[in-house]
Amino acid sequence: MTMTLRAFNEMFPDEDAARAWFERSRWPHGPECYHCGAVGNAAYMPKTKFWHCKSCKKQFSVTAGTPMHRTHLPLLTWAHAIYLIVSSSKGISAVKLGEMLGISYPSAWHLGHRVRTMMAEANPILSGVVEIDEMYAGAPPRKRAKSSRDHDDDDAPPANRKGRGTKRPVVLVAAKRGGDVVAKVIPTHGKEAIASALANVIDRTATVMTDGLPAYKHIGKTQPHLAVNHSAREYARTDAATGNRVHVNRVESFNGFMRRAVTGVFHSISVKHLGRYTGEATFRWNQKADSCLDRMARMIRNGEGRLLTYAFLTGKAA
Ligand SMILES: [Zn+2]
Repeated sequence: MTMTLRAFNEMFPDEDAARAWFERSRWPHGPECYHCGAVGNAAYMPKTKFWHCKSCKKQFSVTAGTPMHRTHLPLLTWAHAIYLIVSSSKGISAVKLGEMLGISYPSAWHLGHRVRTMMAEANPILSGVVEIDEMYAGAPPRKRAKSSRDHDDDDAPPANRKGRGTKRPVVLVAAKRGGDVVAKVIPTHGKEAIASALANVIDRTATVMTDGLPAYKHIGKTQPHLAVNHSAREYARTDAATGNRVHVNRVESFNGFMRRAVTGVFHSISVKHLGRYTGEATFRWNQKADSCLDRMARMIRNGEGRLLTYAFLTGKAA
């Protein structure tokens, strides 16, 4: 459910309207002091756009302690960026975002990552039937000249290999049938990495369905596990003992969605930022039934306490 551009413009005519919306979304019970936590005991100072806390006498703004902390951009630009990102089906590149908002590429890149931080949700615990599969993110490794290969470090992907067996970052995806999807970046697709990634994601009673990757066989030691044998061209079967329909179609359709977003919109992404892109994809997928405005307000609440500085993003700070 998207909001039309006209509806957005009517709701956000100017900076004051944007500020009021941020305040309503973040503080449904009245302004909450960033310093002492007092709720509904602050006076707005129109000149500085800050709130003055009557309890601790300090000042705070609606952006304090969120990814928008100390922003130099107008809140209307933030609202516009959040709207554009939420209402697009696959996401928006920093280049496009910069063009649409009339801001520089570095500003748009940073803005995009901070908005993405607000999309990250607390992982739900998945139960029932849960399909699991992995996805290899980023562009396939390119053929490189021998001279550049000589300088490879251990992290560099081996040349010209696709899919399993490459050193591209792996995203492990768990999709509950008829429910939410959780995606986690893991260092390898080995059994230990898979087991520890799944530990806080799936309920011990859940029936896990996977393809025949050997690393998945270990799942069956701790909980119900059914596999389809893709290498024998088996894509779905009915399990005789439980009557369950065994396939991984749901998780594969999410992975296709995420892959299209990554390669179509973002082209290639580094391991450092991968978690935020997978967070964006799962947010989009899991919240698609909610209205655009509900998703936007949800992001403001998610942003509580999440700081993300330019220095951190660009690796200029420890
Ligand atoms: Zn206070």
